[in-house]
Amino acid sequence: MKLAFAPHTLYFKRPFKIAHGTRSSTPIVLTQLEHEGFIGYGEASMPPYLSESHETVLAFLNKAAVVINKFQNPFEIESILNEVDKIAPNNTAAKASIDIALLDLIGKLQNKPCWQILNCDKNNTPYSTYTLGIDELEIIKQKIIEASEFKYLKVKLNGENDKLIINTIRSVSDKPIAIDVNQGWKDKYLALEMIEWLTDKNVLFVEQPLPKENMDDSFWLFEKSPLPIFADESVQRFSDIDKVKNCFHGINIKLMKCTGMFEANKMIKRARELNLKILVGCMSETSCAVSAAAQLTPLVDYADLDGPLLIKNDLYDGITFTNGKITLNELPGIGVVQKEGII
Ligand code: MG
Repeated sequence: MKLAFAPHTLYFKRPFKIAHGTRSSTPIVLTQLEHEGFIGYGEASMPPYLSESHETVLAFLNKAAVVINKFQNPFEIESILNEVDKIAPNNTAAKASIDIALLDLIGKLQNKPCWQILNCDKNNTPYSTYTLGIDELEIIKQKIIEASEFKYLKVKLNGENDKLIINTIRSVSDKPIAIDVNQGWKDKYLALEMIEWLTDKNVLFVEQPLPKENMDDSFWLFEKSPLPIFADESVQRFSDIDKVKNCFHGINIKLMKCTGMFEANKMIKRARELNLKILVGCMSETSCAVSAAAQLTPLVDYADLDGPLLIKNDLYDGITFTNGKITLNELPGIGVVQKEGII
């Protein structure tokens, strides 16, 4: 679909699905924002829990194209994104696809990478974790071999066979582990017992141990936990940070949750003021959205940006990993190039 509004032209590519493994796929929508012959690329990725779909994203983008066209100057970033945000509540992935395309465009208009515009040292990036999903124990062992390049592992737990999974990993690897429970421990006493058991297992932190709405129990756990606990589902946007500041040691910022790079950068600044640790994560995304998130990583403590490595049909070349360390390139904007012949 092409909407021909001057001076900005917002293109929506056909709905697409990125495939991970043999069993599942995630719907995405690709956007392009054009100005003076330059094109910024964006992406919306819609994992089920965000309640967005191809249909809702395309409907939102149709409205956004009209709003964007009211602006003459793409450098009015904050005003443009504020107006887009006001179109409807939620729709955070659709909003992120506009934010990413706009900031890619701004970088290209200035011929500068976004990390440079953000005054970041591109060598100061963290090592990304490599994700081990909940799987058969033999498959987990196999994935650890595949992840040999990576310095940190990310392990998903859900309250079933957790100790068996950790013991299996520790039988073949002593690499530091980030744990992601995805709200899977339903009881605070069980959560504390598990965290205490993990304390001597070289664990970096535990992400979202308890259900997101359970802030009283999260506060209880925060006060007692011997390991840092990070909020993921409990913190989506800037306004959520102050609500979780007394219940977690750190937060996981994802572009698809928080509407994109502009708000993510504000969240990083606020989290630093509050002395919170910061992880930048991703959904199932191509190298487009992940390279956008990676521009911010010199500002954070941890990264979980292995999304493009876990899909089979990446559409872009973007950031790379050097022994697991995020490696930013010198290309303007978010630093991505469409792969030949795929789009
Ligand atoms: Mg998580």
